[in-house]
Formats: sequence, C-alpha cells, structure tokens
Amino acid sequence: MATIFTRIVNGEIPSYKVAESDKFYAFLDINPLAQGHTLVIPKQETDYIFDIEDKEYQELFLFAKRVAAAIKKAIPCKRVGVAVLGMEVPHAHIHLVPLQSEGDMDFRKAKLSLTPDTFKEIAEKISLSFE
Ligand code: AMP
Repeated sequence: MATIFTRIVNGEIPSYKVAESDKFYAFLDINPLAQGHTLVIPKQETDYIFDIEDKEYQELFLFAKRVAAAIKKAIPCKRVGVAVLGMEVPHAHIHLVPLQSEGDMDFRKAKLSLTPDTFKEIAEKISLSFE
C-alpha cells in the first residue's frame, strides 16, 4: 500500500507544497516544531533513507540544501536544522527546521498548531524564495 507521503505526491492527500522537482517534493510538516518546518522526500518510495541508492541520495540532499536556503530567506532564523527520524512514516524524509536555539529541534516538545491560512502563507513565502 502506498505511504501517506506517496499519496501526497500523487495529490490524493493535500499538502502545503514548498518546492518540487521531477524526483523530489518538499512540503510543510503538519505538526511543526517551528513555523517553516519542512519535509523533503524522494517521490520514489523507500522506507529507510540509508537504503536509497547513492545517486538519488546525493540528489535528495542537494535538493534539501536548496529548500533550506529558501527557508533561511523566507523565515527569520539563525540556522536551518536538519534531522532524519522516520519513526512514524515509512517513506524516507528529511526534516528542515528553522532554528533560533538548540531547543527548537527537540522533537519531544509540543508542536505548533497553525491555521490553514498560516500554513498557506508560510508555504508560499518559502516557495517564492526557492531557486
Ligand atoms: P518521522 O517519521 O518520525 O520523521 O515523523 C513523520 C513526520 O511527518 C511528523 O513530523 C509528522 O508531523 C509529519 N506528517 C505526518 N503526516 C503528515 C501529513 N499528512 N502532512 C504533513 N506532515 C505530516
């Protein structure tokens, strides 16, 4: 059965899209640690990120680098943090989180609750900065 992220890529489930290429897709995490928390995924479904073959793995991280640059431009932050967990969704994904301090990357903390309008506004801002 397709993962929830494949269903997002296929447009069966809505997402707040930030960037897309033929192979990769970036969208806002629905339970964000900070405004602008983004997930970057390969469209090709692989559960564990370190099972992705080398070329696609490199391209995924290069795509994530471009998304991180767009986040940095669009969202006031000191750094964009990077994490890979994969404890919940079995479809490889990279978390990009705008950081003001180390604590912003604590995945145990309470997530933000944002309105659809705010999600849309953030996604649009980041996507406009994506090059
Ligand atoms: P993990 O697999 O542990 O890296 O966590 C999966 C992440 O995906 C969590 O931060 C969820 O909030 C996020 N997530 C799950 N479903 C969706 C969805 N439909 N849209 C956006 N983010 C999601």
